[in-house]
Amino acid sequence: MNVITTTSLRTVAELRRELEPHRRAGRRIGFVPTMGALHDGHASLMRTARSECDLVVASCYVNPAQFGVGEDLARYPRMPESDLAVATAAGVDVLWLPRDADVYGERPGDHATIHVGRVGEVLEGASRPGHFDGVATVVARLLGATAPDVLYLGRKDYQQLVVLRRLVADLLLPVRVRAVDTVREPDGLAMSSRNAYLDASDRRAALAIPGAIDAVRAALEAGERSCAALRTVGLAALDAAAGVEPDYVELVGEGTLDPADRATPGATLVVLVAASVGGTRLIDNERLVVAPTEERP
Ligand code: AMP
Repeated sequence: MNVITTTSLRTVAELRRELEPHRRAGRRIGFVPTMGALHDGHASLMRTARSECDLVVASCYVNPAQFGVGEDLARYPRMPESDLAVATAAGVDVLWLPRDADVYGERPGDHATIHVGRVGEVLEGASRPGHFDGVATVVARLLGATAPDVLYLGRKDYQQLVVLRRLVADLLLPVRVRAVDTVREPDGLAMSSRNAYLDASDRRAALAIPGAIDAVRAALEAGERSCAALRTVGLAALDAAAGVEPDYVELVGEGTLDPADRATPGATLVVLVAASVGGTRLIDNERLVVAPTEERP
């Protein structure tokens, strides 16, 4: 199948018309929602969908509702030409590039919204009030338009994954959520469309973020079991880097946003890091598996 071109697929009606014959034929539809400025992290979601589904649909839409006042909505990179090239190479069948009115109708602001509650208020939600309500609302609308069998999301945005799993569970949405591992640059920085904002010195400084994750992992492997102490290790690694403003380092139980007290044997934790570099806010996380039994001296 050929990718539908950027100009021919904008409205929900056009998208549904395109997908209907495939749905009727019983094809398994995978959906990859993105904000565009596609990089290999996005492509990895698309390739995974390609290998697991009959039809791969991706969207590129910079959703105003998830940006706060003073955030980077206006300057967020928009590059539909290269998005089309990346999506095509990754095996996307249908690329949907809706405009604001295609997603929200002709009366923006006058539509039902989703409030996700506590999972959307901690961590990123504490620094970006309303962000996850905006994410949940747009994803609910995109899912309503696309009605896919499988929704592909990156672990890179761990809290977003928890929030959207919650959305799907709480609203009984008939879609399976599939999480895909984070893709990193060769030096360890997690790929992000916002990395484009970093100048050369910010780019070097940003390595403190995966560095903080490595420091927490090393302390865990060396036997540290107090999550407060592990947080301190991560924050110290961020503090030590010039040009990096730490926001938080947190450890939670996998699949939750509940802060962990102790790294208990055999547990899987997630370490979450957020920091600003040269005014650009970056987030990262990794799963950490605690050794199943304590080593004996
Ligand atoms: P975004 O365009 O930033 O809204 O991201 C769209 C989807 O791609 C989300 O599910 C992200 O979690 C995922 N994603 C973004 N960056 C990466 C990455 N480096 N590795 C894997 N998935 C990613």
